[in-house]
Amino acid sequence: MSFSGLSSLLPSLPIHVADLIQAGLAQREQTYRGRFAPSPTGVLHRGNLRTALLSWLEARLHGGEWLLRLDDLDTPRNRGGAAEAIQADLQWLGLDWDGPVIWQSRRRGLYATVLSALRRAGLLYPCRCSRRLLADISAPHGSSPVYPGFCLGASHGWGMVEQRLPSWRMRVPRGRLQWRERYGRPGDVDGPEAVGDVVLRRADGFLAYHLATAVDELTLGISDVLRGDDLWSSTAAQVAVMAQLGAGPPRYGHVPLWRDASGHRLCKREGSDGLAGYRSRGLTAAAVIGAMAASAGLVPQGSQLSAQDLLAELNWRDFDCGIRAGF
Ligand code: GLU
Repeated sequence: MSFSGLSSLLPSLPIHVADLIQAGLAQREQTYRGRFAPSPTGVLHRGNLRTALLSWLEARLHGGEWLLRLDDLDTPRNRGGAAEAIQADLQWLGLDWDGPVIWQSRRRGLYATVLSALRRAGLLYPCRCSRRLLADISAPHGSSPVYPGFCLGASHGWGMVEQRLPSWRMRVPRGRLQWRERYGRPGDVDGPEAVGDVVLRRADGFLAYHLATAVDELTLGISDVLRGDDLWSSTAAQVAVMAQLGAGPPRYGHVPLWRDASGHRLCKREGSDGLAGYRSRGLTAAAVIGAMAASAGLVPQGSQLSAQDLLAELNWRDFDCGIRAGF
């Protein structure tokens, strides 16, 4: 397995962080290493669980490792008991992960160090645009707004002004952002036009998802990210952060979300769509795995089989073709 990735890392990175990134880049060249990275903001619904199943299958079919990372940085959004429920649900389904669970909240020091290095390198600037202003300029139809660069070059400093701290934005240089995409739209977008300058530290002091995720994919040696296609558009921002750190991205595969009968996205608050709902209807793990695999076109409808049996039935080429064909 070989893909581009090693270039020269950002010189302002402290040596221990540069070493961690180099080790991660070397590791992903050697082994398939995937991950599932839910936010503990609620119970996983069948859509999240199907994505977890596909990510697990892909990793195991490649003889690779599969990590469980909990994206719990946005603490006000975390729900008590959700992290435990996520682990219990994955275990019940037989989706075993390698090594200890990785909590982003325990890695804040690493993210903050990387952020400081980006700032020292002159790649960040303070931004004082309010959410309201940004909402007013946001693109129609809910597509994510591209920041128009109002604060780029402004000299209002990093400190408190009118009791507010600025957010920290990373400049996204001109040029294309590219990544290898297995299942979704090709990973090739114009940085400034499609992404714009990315917030890496929010005005309320929280470290942003794009920063933590980019640092994690690199330092954890992630070779392949399989996740829902709602995150396709986040990928370019994460690739931009990696590029500023001097590293290439992992491979990505964005798979369709499982929608309800009327075509709407499932939402974590709909508890009945979680495993508790299935269990209360008396379904076994084999029935749930069968239903999830059938919905992705991997086995016939009505199949009942354990995650391990499903794994034994598939090979990675059929899996790859099946997922590429869409479901
Ligand atoms: N934690 C994020 C979520 O649950 C996504 C993480 C990812 O796969 O990059 O939506």
